Amino acid sequence: MKREEILGWLRATDENQLEALWQQADEVRRQNVGDEVYLRGLIEISNYCARSCGYCGLRLENKEVERYRMSDEEIISCAQEGVEYGYGTVVLQAGEDYGISTERVTNLVRRIKEETPLAVTLSLGEREDHELLAWKEAGADRYLLRFETSNRALYDKIHPPLPGRVSDRFALLRRMRDMGYEIGSGVMIGIPGQSYEDLANDIEMFRTLDLDMIGVGPYISHPLTPLGDPEKLPPLPEGEQVPTGELMTYKTVALARLVCPKSNIPSTSALATLNKAKGRELGLCRGANIVMPNLSPQKYRAQYEIYPSKACIDETAAECRSCMRGRIHSIGRTVGQGRGDSPNLSKEG
Ligand code: SAH
Repeated sequence: MKREEILGWLRATDENQLEALWQQADEVRRQNVGDEVYLRGLIEISNYCARSCGYCGLRLENKEVERYRMSDEEIISCAQEGVEYGYGTVVLQAGEDYGISTERVTNLVRRIKEETPLAVTLSLGEREDHELLAWKEAGADRYLLRFETSNRALYDKIHPPLPGRVSDRFALLRRMRDMGYEIGSGVMIGIPGQSYEDLANDIEMFRTLDLDMIGVGPYISHPLTPLGDPEKLPPLPEGEQVPTGELMTYKTVALARLVCPKSNIPSTSALATLNKAKGRELGLCRGANIVMPNLSPQKYRAQYEIYPSKACIDETAAECRSCMRGRIHSIGRTVGQGRGDSPNLSKEG
């Protein structure tokens, strides 16, 4: 798909015209990854964070959030629950928490791989190569790290590096791919200062990076972050700013499917947050083939507040499971069995 076409869809408003995009994305999804929807159980293992990302409620400077770090036993028991629920993968996600040592993660990965048949995805932020290698050797299968935006100046503004370090998520993703990880990345949609050109570049970048997983979600303003204060941001010229919201997210999901037909694409919680009734289903009908039900213990959910009013914070893991299955069946799809590895990796040519 040409860049002009991507831009054309991003700016399209006509509902009849957009219906053609949804149908095309749904058809390409069906042909390339089938009707199975794979479930990845998300365990939010810690909300401590060393970073100061301008968009995220877990940022170091947010003193109002009560911090927690799950114990090994809690994490293993969540993973076991995932096995009981028929999930093929667990995703261990956290803020960039250096209080979770390399060895702890290595041991956790090893235990999950020994004690369960699960694929393990890590999403622990920008960690050192030696750590990533140790975790790979312990059995980790995949790594999720969104590049958030391909506009370097915007990225530097919203995602300041740690002192004395550079933050180059593209380079890191490529190294992880070389280490043998399936790599997942993605962006937020509607970040203040993000233009249509930027978002078109992001979508082209999905293809350049040859991502196995692409997670995109609407930017949701958090009042306790600098980006949450609109007065601090110089606006883009009229008509240039990408609006946040459901529609732009569906468009990006659909376009991601068209440029990366074999990638695994989740219908994300941020989408479900904007439309609790139908957001997940609409994402699945417009290109997505994955959902990530929350496996975190209920007592921690509200504390993992990357953005406000997150979907599913009042539910238990069991409720999330039956809710997701119901939603998948309601649109005539089936629940995928097994790990749901990326068909992207086995593609020809
Ligand atoms: N520390 C890890 C995990 C972060 S949370 C990391 O940096 O990779 C996972 C994702 O949530 C982030 O990559 C970001 O895209 C998304 N996120 C954070 N704050 C958000 C907000 N205010 N609105 C929407 N998505 C947000």
